[in-house]
Amino acid sequence: MIIRHVTVIDGTGADPIADAEVVVADGRFSAVRPAASAERADGDGPVIDGRGGYLVPGLWEGHTHLSGYLLQRPESERASFFTRLMADFVAAGVTSVTDLGGPIGLREELRGYLAGVSGPVPELLFSGPVFTGIEGWPVLDMKERASFAYQTDNADQAYRQALELADRVDFVKCVYDGEPGTPGKLPFEALKAIVAAAHEKGKNVVAHIHHRSELEEAVRAGVDGIEHAFLPDDAGSRAEALDVAALLSETNTYYCPTLAAWEQLGRSGDEAYLRELIDDGFLTEADVPQIISRPIWGRPFPHHPADECRVRLRYALDTLGYLHDAGVRIAAGSDIALALPSPPKALLRELRLLAEAGLPRASVLAAGTRHVAGKIGREATAGTITPTAVADAVLLDADPLADVAHLTDLAHHVGTLRQGRWDGELPGA
Ligand SMILES: [Zn+2]
Repeated sequence: MIIRHVTVIDGTGADPIADAEVVVADGRFSAVRPAASAERADGDGPVIDGRGGYLVPGLWEGHTHLSGYLLQRPESERASFFTRLMADFVAAGVTSVTDLGGPIGLREELRGYLAGVSGPVPELLFSGPVFTGIEGWPVLDMKERASFAYQTDNADQAYRQALELADRVDFVKCVYDGEPGTPGKLPFEALKAIVAAAHEKGKNVVAHIHHRSELEEAVRAGVDGIEHAFLPDDAGSRAEALDVAALLSETNTYYCPTLAAWEQLGRSGDEAYLRELIDDGFLTEADVPQIISRPIWGRPFPHHPADECRVRLRYALDTLGYLHDAGVRIAAGSDIALALPSPPKALLRELRLLAEAGLPRASVLAAGTRHVAGKIGREATAGTITPTAVADAVLLDADPLADVAHLTDLAHHVGTLRQGRWDGELPGA
């Protein structure tokens, strides 16, 4: 397949290439070259005329919980729910989805649901069960989540479990959150042991954190990525953000703030929030009854009080620019779709919030593409439009570097390329 006469924003951070042509072969990009030099090579397949369009790498959801969404449905509806969800992701330009914690058998369960699906589906990447303390987050007393976690208070045991797990998953996740010294908190020595085991197996480790001190300790333990914007000790001062910016930059640690999660948890039950989502194009009036009828709408969420979530969101929106300016690689992940109609919409909201936090639009795009690939150790093969990368891309009808809405508003999406297969109407060839 050849996509001709498009402006390519290849996702490496390089300048856009105007009037380019992109050649796809065997599910991968094989060439990106000026259209003027175009020669029709035999076997290149259909030619798509992308005139006036902008081709960007396929989006990555960097933090979601597929098993969380599935558990809300009766078993008989899970297969149809999941196949529809996968189609929605691709239709929204999301070609890779990373799952941040679920039972070890989740990959096989989901594969089963997709048997017989012929359309393109996103690549799914799994952490498998997370490491946490004894009855630590996300298990607490929710028995149905016991299979989501290795609960441990012992570094040797954690090391052995992590060695075994690392062979079966794409990356490893630890939850480093809780009162220090209590059984519910993963001990620091266990965190270090898990990092050592995963790195021995060539797998990256990300850590869910809560307070700034936990972020600092997790970085000291050697994790590759931090999940969630940290809660500052003093929200009135920028000093903590500057320290964190220097630390993450120095250690090349990725940062996935999940702003959309803090926004939804902090503003659950707030009708003005739904109004804003409608104004910003993430929700329609028709979605509202369904959202306010969800059992979780307006109810306290376990472990995350709403006022605290608002502090995390506000502080992150105000200070993410410092992290960006220090060179920290920020990754996009939405975590939940509580007030948003669907998980793909939650990711698009995350991208919008990153722009509102002051990230330049090229960095918003990097956050939604190669930085997610990077945090889980996949930057070599995916996340950009460069020869040999997996041919995942989104064709937009307007410049996403001129206005973030051109990326986050589905009205600007022409179609999605997933492993070299086109999803959407074919523009005139
Ligand atoms: Zn999460």
